[in-house]
Amino acid sequence: MAVSTDFSVAIAGAGLSGLCLAQYLMRAGIDVHVYERDPGPFVRRQGYRIILDRYGLEALRESLPRQLYNLALTTGDEPGGHLRFTDSRLRDAFTITFKDEPHATRQVDRLTLRSILQSGLNGRIHYGKDAVAVESGGPAGLRMRFSDGGAAAATVVVGADGVGSALRAQLMPDADPTNTPMAGIYGRSPLLRNGESVIPDALRTSGVLAIADQPGRAFFFTPMRFGESPPEAFARLAPGSYAPTGYDYVMWGLLLRQEEVPLGVRGDLLALWRLASRTSADFHPVIRRLVATAELDATVLNLFATGRRPRRWAVPRATMMGDAVHVMPPFGAHGGNTALRDAALLGRRLVQARTNGTPVEEAIARYQDEMVPYAFRAVDTAAGLMRRLTGGATAPHWVLTRVLPRLHRVTVPEA
Ligand SMILES: Cc1cc2nc3c(=O)[nH]c(=O)nc-3n(C[C@H](O)[C@H](O)[C@H](O)COP(=O)(O)OP(=O)(O)OC[C@H]3O[C@@H](n4cnc5c(N)ncnc54)[C@H](O)[C@@H]3O)c2cc1C
Repeated sequence: MAVSTDFSVAIAGAGLSGLCLAQYLMRAGIDVHVYERDPGPFVRRQGYRIILDRYGLEALRESLPRQLYNLALTTGDEPGGHLRFTDSRLRDAFTITFKDEPHATRQVDRLTLRSILQSGLNGRIHYGKDAVAVESGGPAGLRMRFSDGGAAAATVVVGADGVGSALRAQLMPDADPTNTPMAGIYGRSPLLRNGESVIPDALRTSGVLAIADQPGRAFFFTPMRFGESPPEAFARLAPGSYAPTGYDYVMWGLLLRQEEVPLGVRGDLLALWRLASRTSADFHPVIRRLVATAELDATVLNLFATGRRPRRWAVPRATMMGDAVHVMPPFGAHGGNTALRDAALLGRRLVQARTNGTPVEEAIARYQDEMVPYAFRAVDTAAGLMRRLTGGATAPHWVLTRVLPRLHRVTVPEA
């Protein structure tokens, strides 16, 4: 499709939402450019998987060319499976079962998804561009300013620059996120060791949240098995795009209180891994083995925060999406799905405005009016889940860790 240049969109951040919006707009023939702070596309390992729910999948289906959407499905894990809540010895408290349908909730590898989202955007993603401000002026109406002194002109500016957003203070001046008491040290370990799965058969298709006796302490893990190997699937559906190697792995996360993570270890991968190893010593041997076999450079610390509802949008032709607006603790797997949903919704509203002549300010205001209610419902749900599963409230914690597991037989023997 020919690209019209009298209307242009500049996006800060080539994460999930920024790239998804760029795909949407490019398909509609809108002139879009993405400016990313990282110096290149794969400088961070981003070694974890994410669960896509029906909102995330629907947003991808609407935004991506058909073969790229199919690429996400075919490289993803099989749909269905379970999420088990257990005590620290992996005795079941209760289990949620996911639907086993082709377009139902499924896990995908984040690096593979990012690579899919970048496919076909050649020349439209600019790396090493650290957005710092939006200002009025120039031929298109707005300019996105970068820390190197440069600027990009655009009719519409979108901040998709994640939890630490530099544009938020200017575009949503009253909505800085609030810190929570909880944090997660995340890691990944190869699924196969000496040709054998490190995950026992009983948990083959399960994510597990093992809740410790001590409130504020839990361990999450889930295997990620690629449906089709990325190199083969990319060669078929997106030849020329970068295909991650895609070996199966287990993503895990130790949840603990922020006060247990000394400031001195926060940027030090080895010290973080050692802390995770010490702190998970009382968990089931399967969990201890996962930490022991982790790939050190995939270790990530995440300090959980919750976004605050914006009351005022300060620049009418500029808006924001994703974690930059509504960061949430990773409980319930809503963060990335909500970010993708924002991207498809904003794409739809901008394209409709171009088609029917609605002023772009109105299209953006409509997007914001629709996004804030569903996004902050997700924030409230995630924050509520975090409180219930890791908080100090005695009764729910006692039921989860003492009563329910005793009603079940041993799921994984402690060999
Ligand atoms: C361990 C973990 C597990 C998760 N699991 C799930 C899950 O299962 N399901 C789910 O839905 N969500 C999950 N999430 C949350 C999900 O990853 C985020 O909600 C999602 O990535 C947000 O997308 P985004 O586009 O808003 O921001 P991001 O994907 O974070 O992208 C932001 C981008 O902006 C760039 N940037 C930052 N500042 C600037 C700047 N000033 N100028 C230019 N570029 C900038 C960054 O480098 C980055 O590339 C998980 C998160 C974590 C940490």
